[in-house]
Amino acid sequence: MSSLEVVVKEIADEMRQRPDRGEVATYIPELARADVKAFGLVVIDADGNVVAGGDSELPFSIQSISKVFTLTLALGKAGDRLWRRVGREPSGSAFNSIVQLEFEKGVPRNPFINAGAIAVTDLILSGHHPREALGEILRFMRFLADDSSITIDEAVAASEQRTGFRNAALANYMKSYGVLENPVDLTLGVYFHQCAIAMSCRQLAMAGRFLAHHGRNPSTGLSVVPPERARRINAVMLTCGHYDGSGEFAYRVGLPGKSGVGGGILAIAPGKASIAVWSPGLDASGNSRLGRIALEALTKWLGWSIFGE
Ligand code: GLU
Repeated sequence: MSSLEVVVKEIADEMRQRPDRGEVATYIPELARADVKAFGLVVIDADGNVVAGGDSELPFSIQSISKVFTLTLALGKAGDRLWRRVGREPSGSAFNSIVQLEFEKGVPRNPFINAGAIAVTDLILSGHHPREALGEILRFMRFLADDSSITIDEAVAASEQRTGFRNAALANYMKSYGVLENPVDLTLGVYFHQCAIAMSCRQLAMAGRFLAHHGRNPSTGLSVVPPERARRINAVMLTCGHYDGSGEFAYRVGLPGKSGVGGGILAIAPGKASIAVWSPGLDASGNSRLGRIALEALTKWLGWSIFGE
């Protein structure tokens, strides 16, 4: 066993047994069905070795982790013009907060809070039918993960569509300032479906590899984004990837990361590895409780924090 295999196994074994697992999200009713006892961890290193522990093959709802990939697509489409529609400062607010949006005249603080992600999705939708925009997002995920079996969980999408009143409020508010170009219901429809993409830790870690390796897939050598763009996406992940828990995540884990209310976290160790962890119980900021604890243990063990040992 390599030292990485030992570390992943130890962490997965320990996490399985912990009693303090946080609370599964219930505001999207379908997410409440997740098993709070589930835990998965996958690390893919620079040589393409896949080191897996726990429930690494079970698909879960990636939710806001999708925002990393829609940001990547939108930057490909609009380049730096994107930053006229959305900022890149940490918010210090909850993921679905509307307060800041009023102060900042409908321009969301960053692309990872819900308002910002909805604005990014609206940009991807412009000039397309919602079905095409969603197809583009799904194809991108399948391409990055090298796995055509990735799909959207329609039950989760429908569940959020029925109950996503706050996201509808955010979208309508932005629309009133002209920040959204498309009809609100169409933009929200794409957003709810991108959040409902289901992936396993292995698929997610595969999809994140380009961010760990200067914008390239290290196995195929294919460029996904220029190195400068990968670096900048990582910077936004570090500062904004965990909502009002972003400072705590940087302090404890020290890696760019993006969480989702499905309990997943994608973390990037630049030059070293793409890491996906999943445990559906959340902390008060809506981030996976054991996911964060596992990543803290992993980076400490391996000395992988970008801030040093
Ligand atoms: N679809 C979720 C929402 O908009 C995403 C939130 C999250 O994963 O943090 O409420």
